[in-house]
Amino acid sequence: MSSQRTPFVGGNWKMNTNAQEGADLIDGLGSLMSGVGDAVEVAVYPPFPYLVGIGGRLSNGIMLGSQDLWKDDNGAFTGEVSAAMLKDCGVHTVLTGHSERRHVIGESDELVNQKTIKGLAAGMTVVLCIGEKIEEREAGQTDAVNERQIRAGLSGVSKDQLSKMVLAYEPVWAIGTGKTATPDDAQDAHAKIRALIAGMYDQAAADSIRILYGGSMKPGNAAELMAMEDIDGGLIGGASLKAEDFFAIIQAAQNS
Ligand code: PEP
Repeated sequence: MSSQRTPFVGGNWKMNTNAQEGADLIDGLGSLMSGVGDAVEVAVYPPFPYLVGIGGRLSNGIMLGSQDLWKDDNGAFTGEVSAAMLKDCGVHTVLTGHSERRHVIGESDELVNQKTIKGLAAGMTVVLCIGEKIEEREAGQTDAVNERQIRAGLSGVSKDQLSKMVLAYEPVWAIGTGKTATPDDAQDAHAKIRALIAGMYDQAAADSIRILYGGSMKPGNAAELMAMEDIDGGLIGGASLKAEDFFAIIQAAQNS
C-alpha cells in the first residue's frame, strides 16, 4: 500500500459468537494489540446484541463497528436499528453494501446508498462494500459492476463526506469460500476503483481514500495482498474470529 494512507483492518464477525466467545475474542485481541499504536486503524463489527458488551471491553484503539443500519431515523420498522441507536451504543463505524446484505437479504443499490448517507450524516466512518459475483466476473463485468455499485452507493456523497469513508472491494466468489483474488487481480480492480474516484471527485480524494480487499484474507496471504500499491488493508470475515489470526493480518498491514 502507499505510505500516504493509514491501513484499516476490519473484523466482520457476521452472525457468529455468543456473549462469552465475543468477550474472549475482544479481550485476546486487545492484549495482542498493546504495541500497535496508531499505525493501523482496527475495527470489529460484532452482532447487534453484543455491541454494548464488546464496546465496554475495547482497548488499545480498537473501534466499535456495526454490520448494518437502517435508512430512517425511527418509526415502524420492526427489527431495524437506526444510526442514532448505534451511536448511543458507542458505534464509530458501519458497513454498508456487504455482499451478504446485497445478495442474501436482497438490498438494492438504492438502499445501500440511503444507508451510506444516513451513516455519514451520523458522523460514522462508513465502509461501503462492493464486488462482483462469479458469473459477472466470468462475463468480464468486474469493472462495470464495481463502477455501478460505487456510482450508486456514493450518489449524493460530497467530497468532504467521502474523506470519512472507506471502500472495500470484496469479490463475492471469494467471500467465505477460501478462494482469494490473486494480488495482481485485486490490485487491478483497486487501481480502477481509485481511478474512478479520481474521475468522480478529484485526484486528492482518490489518493487519500482507503480501499480494502475482502475475500478469504488470512495470515498466509495478507502480506502479499497488502504489498500491492492500491490495497490499503482488509475486511476480514472468518479469520477475524480468532484473535491470533486477526492480529497476524493487522501486523501484515502494519508492515505493508
Ligand atoms: C467478509 O465478510 O467481508 C469477508 C471478507 O469474509 P471472509 O474473510 O470470511 O471471506
